[in-house]
Amino acid sequence: MEKRVPEILIIYTGGTIGMVKDYETNALRPFDFENLKTKIPELNLLECSLKTKAFEQPIDSSDMSPDYWIAIADIIESNYKETDGFVVLTGTDTMSYTASAMSFILENLRKPVIFTGSQLPIGDLRTDAKENLITAIQVASAFEKEEPVVQEVALYFEYKLYRANRTTKVSSEQFEAFQSPNYPNLGESGVHLIFNRQFLQRSKSDLPLRIQRDLSANVVILKLFPGIQKEMVEYILNYPDLQGVVLETYGAGNAPTDSWFFEILNKTIRRGIPIVNVTQCISGGVLMGLYETSTKLKSIGVINGKNITSESAVAKLKLMVGQKIPVSEFKQKFESQMRGEMS
Ligand code: ASP
Repeated sequence: MEKRVPEILIIYTGGTIGMVKDYETNALRPFDFENLKTKIPELNLLECSLKTKAFEQPIDSSDMSPDYWIAIADIIESNYKETDGFVVLTGTDTMSYTASAMSFILENLRKPVIFTGSQLPIGDLRTDAKENLITAIQVASAFEKEEPVVQEVALYFEYKLYRANRTTKVSSEQFEAFQSPNYPNLGESGVHLIFNRQFLQRSKSDLPLRIQRDLSANVVILKLFPGIQKEMVEYILNYPDLQGVVLETYGAGNAPTDSWFFEILNKTIRRGIPIVNVTQCISGGVLMGLYETSTKLKSIGVINGKNITSESAVAKLKLMVGQKIPVSEFKQKFESQMRGEMS
């Protein structure tokens, strides 16, 4: 009997990875994804069968929006039954936002959804696109005891596999563009492709895949900086349709002690609008109550974002507000892990 090979769907949304240089004009243009194998003949050597689906109009990831997140999730849902694994190609600039959001939008996921992209276009001599794409496909097709090894949303880039909702883009120059500062890598690609199995996540539910489509459009990130003015904070927090705030604080979750600042935050929370405390630091997290400057935040009911990234916090907040979680349960629910995004 012929061995069944995994069916992998590559979803191309845009970004550098799908570009080739037009050597006459020197400009980058998207290449026809249907012809992927002619561009990368190495794909014929992989032990899987490949299908591709591309956005009709590929976008730069700076134009990515929640509507596109849902469009990606819809493609995954409509191909879920007959597909063993998914590779999603997007531009790197907002990849951590998209991949984090996908981890929340896809409920009861039991198959690999691997995001990747590249710093240099696929046709470039020194491109990182080929390795990223080929290994991402291998990760998506890795099976053990008839089960996919990865059953969550992950991001593969420059020899490392990360939990998607723990990543952040750290370099616009280096091939190692992403990091997962607060969670160990899920795998590494060297001579062998190694998975760190103890860090992989499994869905606890046997329920079928479900797409969480209701995302609030009215969530904002407010980043503190020395010299921030009362009027600025007031202006943002008095936005009439506001439904949630990610407050990027200093260090272990600290904020200025000015009374005007607390009054505005307090009023916002009393209006039923959740405020999540997330650190501006690249690694480590929030420890509310360690300094007086964060004790006050704690006392007025600011949510502890622990070591969540801002990218994940925005997505989780959009989702939880969209789900209409009652105010009385919101804080406790946000502070609990949903998809392995905080610890
Ligand atoms: N500006 C591009 C994008 O994010 C960069 C990239 O693909 O890496 O779409």
